[in-house]
Amino acid sequence: MDATAMPMTRSRHSTLRAALLGGLLALLPACGADQGPEPWSVLLVTLDTTRADRLGCYGYGQDTTPNLDALAADGVRFEFAVSTAGITPVAHASILTGLNPPRHGVRVFHGAPGSYLDRTTPTLARILGEAGHATGAFVSAYPASERFGLDHGFDHFDNGAKDSALHTDPEFEPKLGVLRGAGDWQQRRWVPTQRRADAVTDKAIAWLEEQDGPVLQWVHYFDPHDSFLVPPRKFLQRFEARRDGPDRMARVYDADLNFMDHHVGRLLEAYRERGRMERTIVLVTADHGQGLGDHDWEQHRILYREQLQIPLLARWPGGPRGRVVPDLVRNTDLLPTITQLLGLEAPRGLDGQSVVDLLDASGEPRVAYAEALNTLDSHAPGALPERHKDLLFCAVERDWKLIHHVEHPENSELYDLREDPGELVNVLDEHPEEAARLLAFLEESGGMAVRTGEVDPIEEEAARKLEALGYSGDE
Ligand SMILES: [Zn+2]
Repeated sequence: MDATAMPMTRSRHSTLRAALLGGLLALLPACGADQGPEPWSVLLVTLDTTRADRLGCYGYGQDTTPNLDALAADGVRFEFAVSTAGITPVAHASILTGLNPPRHGVRVFHGAPGSYLDRTTPTLARILGEAGHATGAFVSAYPASERFGLDHGFDHFDNGAKDSALHTDPEFEPKLGVLRGAGDWQQRRWVPTQRRADAVTDKAIAWLEEQDGPVLQWVHYFDPHDSFLVPPRKFLQRFEARRDGPDRMARVYDADLNFMDHHVGRLLEAYRERGRMERTIVLVTADHGQGLGDHDWEQHRILYREQLQIPLLARWPGGPRGRVVPDLVRNTDLLPTITQLLGLEAPRGLDGQSVVDLLDASGEPRVAYAEALNTLDSHAPGALPERHKDLLFCAVERDWKLIHHVEHPENSELYDLREDPGELVNVLDEHPEEAARLLAFLEESGGMAVRTGEVDPIEEEAARKLEALGYSGDE
């Protein structure tokens, strides 16, 4: 059967409906029925620090991402996808569990509210592993590593430590020119746990070649994040990125995206060459975006569009080609989407819902949840603007967005996204009813009751390791 015509999976707000649908799904031939003798594979690519509006297929004019643009043209592009956080491990935990941070428990980089995924939480890797997939993860940096429990359920977890290397270029680094000095790393001979797109892609393809049956492969790219993963010169030159040139930060960012896109293209080609593409669900997204100077902030960790709005591209056998979905979707929607396409049962009570029902416009509008517990994260950078040193909770709908500042509610922000997609004019005073509705959603989510007890030993241990690695407050 056509997977796009399948009914949606359960809504956690309606157990009756869930029970009815559960019975219905059990009667239908599972999606797996037309997958042949073995289930489809899943390729999940997460692009660190990649804001949606810098991809060609999202309207950027600099030809940064030809391979991703081609994937969008051959699959589905979700125009308005929202992350749960502006921090790498928090957002990845949502992608891998279908849960918002208060429920998966990874809420800060390190600090009392917790930054480790509980072993009992069902993950994409565990579900697919139990369904018979070989599960391999290839991450490019410490913030996406086993330190945060993101390895749970994977048979093979390559954290990049063996390939870690600095890729510097005296003409171009440091990229951001802030926070860390390149000399510091080099003088102390610290090698950060992070690798470039070429290295992680080599490892991912080598593993794929060893597999015969269905796989879940997660590949995480880190290039746009880090000041010390400078792409080769031809990529920098293509975007006329020069150390002292105009728009240096944006141009190096574009070169990073282009370099990463080139290697994602290699990975997709490896699936094609091995005849796997027509038996694989491909999902490409990001953990969060990057400020690049918007709202006077260069990095992530806060909750504006440039941090939270992520690309989401999907392609699966027999799925739509060249479709654009305007509805709001969330990173928590990925797991239930994958299980629905594979005809598998999703864990009960997820925060996310499959996006498949949005393809025939039958889906109900969704609300996205995001948070930034900056005053509880001992890793939050000191340079963060004063008004964001707060407990920030965010509710996003297609048309409205609330950023609630818990410790200083007078700083809270409401944006009318129809009139003001860039989130520049705070209209909270003019629309108290919209703010109240979104605040009620946040209160219902349970996230604002944050545990602020003593720092537990695992967190103290992590803090020491981070400092030894030379990580500073921007991750
Ligand atoms: Zn990240």
